[in-house]
Amino acid sequence: MYTRSEMLDVVTVDGHAKGIVTRNLITGEIDTHTGHAVLLATGGYGNVFYLSTNAIGSNVTAAWRAHKRGAFFANPCYTQIHPTCIPVTGDHQSKLTLMSESLRNDGRVWAPKTVEIAEQLRKGTIKADQVKEDDRDYFLERKYPSFGNLVPRDVASRNAKEMVDEGRGVGGSGFAVFLDFADAIHRLGKDAVAAKYGNLFDMYYQITDEDPYKQPMRIYPAVHYTMGGLWVDYNLSTNVPGLYALGECNFSDHGANRLGASALMQGLADGYFVIPYTLGDYLAQIGPKPVDGKHPAFEQTKQDVIARINKLLALKGTKTVNEYHRDLGHIMWEYCGMARTEEGLTKAKGLIQALRADFWKNALVVGENEEVNPALEKAGRVADFLELGELMVDDALMRKESCGGHFRLESQTPEGEALRDDEHFAFVAAWEYKGDNQPEVLNKEALDFEFVHLTQRSYK
Ligand SMILES: Cc1cc2nc3c(=O)[nH]c(=O)nc-3n(C[C@H](O)[C@H](O)[C@H](O)COP(=O)(O)OP(=O)(O)OC[C@H]3O[C@@H](n4cnc5c(N)ncnc54)[C@H](O)[C@@H]3O)c2cc1C
Repeated sequence: MYTRSEMLDVVTVDGHAKGIVTRNLITGEIDTHTGHAVLLATGGYGNVFYLSTNAIGSNVTAAWRAHKRGAFFANPCYTQIHPTCIPVTGDHQSKLTLMSESLRNDGRVWAPKTVEIAEQLRKGTIKADQVKEDDRDYFLERKYPSFGNLVPRDVASRNAKEMVDEGRGVGGSGFAVFLDFADAIHRLGKDAVAAKYGNLFDMYYQITDEDPYKQPMRIYPAVHYTMGGLWVDYNLSTNVPGLYALGECNFSDHGANRLGASALMQGLADGYFVIPYTLGDYLAQIGPKPVDGKHPAFEQTKQDVIARINKLLALKGTKTVNEYHRDLGHIMWEYCGMARTEEGLTKAKGLIQALRADFWKNALVVGENEEVNPALEKAGRVADFLELGELMVDDALMRKESCGGHFRLESQTPEGEALRDDEHFAFVAAWEYKGDNQPEVLNKEALDFEFVHLTQRSYK
């Protein structure tokens, strides 16, 4: 087991994955590791948005470097934005907190009916419990009577954004709606509510200094889960023989918006029921020949990694890598977040290209390789995010329909719901890397629905 090591590249020999290159995060040592196959389980890339509910260390590097060695990257633009998170409070934050989805079982989501009341709430001249029942808009219950507050995450998130866009957002920043337990406390009693959600209420209180037993919680959507990732077949094999990917780092099973699915179950199913058999089958096919660690591909890939590290360490500009990450996050959230347009995405593409060019001129990476160097680690990851971000935008531009975790404002029903275009877009978009600063090539894998046919979702 190699703890405190980061995988920085995949080694391919005659087109087959035969090993990886790692950097020891303590000593900086660059190592090669041989294997008859390579299996990646390196998680999602939500942190391309800078702020997300993901762990700070989550990144796309392993999957991205595999992509640059030939593995297709599929459906990168599909992002799950979770409705029930504690709102952003300012630029000082590095992460967002997810409140459990279970809260929507009993909590009622609302915004004030008028902009005037919202303004008073934002200024703090009135409190939420002073807003009369008639002045509240339980917008999910109103718009989706069958599902109410339990509509799927993409629908709940978009509707919260709509309230904010209309000027009806609450909290100091105006980027929040309420999640109110007053009815549940009245109906079930405070003890029963505490028994169900006490830990979450405590967490909310500790973070916001507001007591959710007395005032409704303020919530706002945050990036939570990425449905794109390395393209794999049903055997979890990428298109590079011997390179496998499971869990959030692949694109599979997540569906267009992860409706009711469970990421953890997918990880477990992939890991327990699928990969032991499919990878075993691959090993049986290639036979028990030892892998030749002296093959020039290992040394070449190691030298490529060292060259990249040196290029990063040579960056002695004035802007920290964290600032570039934050700038990228702003672009992604603004133009490739909950609502996307042709115009916004086109603008984002230019902004990302300019930011990436600036990064390679003006970024500051302090320290050396042969030490614990978080600045260097982060620089590599942000450099990869700056490339991935553009691919996400390209994918979102290409998909001129709305579909689950991808909402194009130009493609909606008269009622403002996501409008798919199955005639033209019922395919997986598997992008193929063609070299630095070259446009990626789109490969389409048709989606064939034999038993359950595609229909328009409705939660009315
Ligand atoms: C706050 C939160 C709550 C969630 N709640 C739920 C839930 O209730 N139900 C549910 O089903 N899902 C939930 N999810 C989603 C679910 O947790 C993830 O999708 C799942 O953990 C992904 O598992 P994974 O093994 O694919 O990746 P991860 O758990 O992300 O593991 C990836 C690992 O790879 C390591 N790694 C990454 N890059 C490298 C590299 N280059 N070299 C070496 N190591 C690397 C990372 O450090 C990490 O340890 C939640 C996610 C979050 C963030």
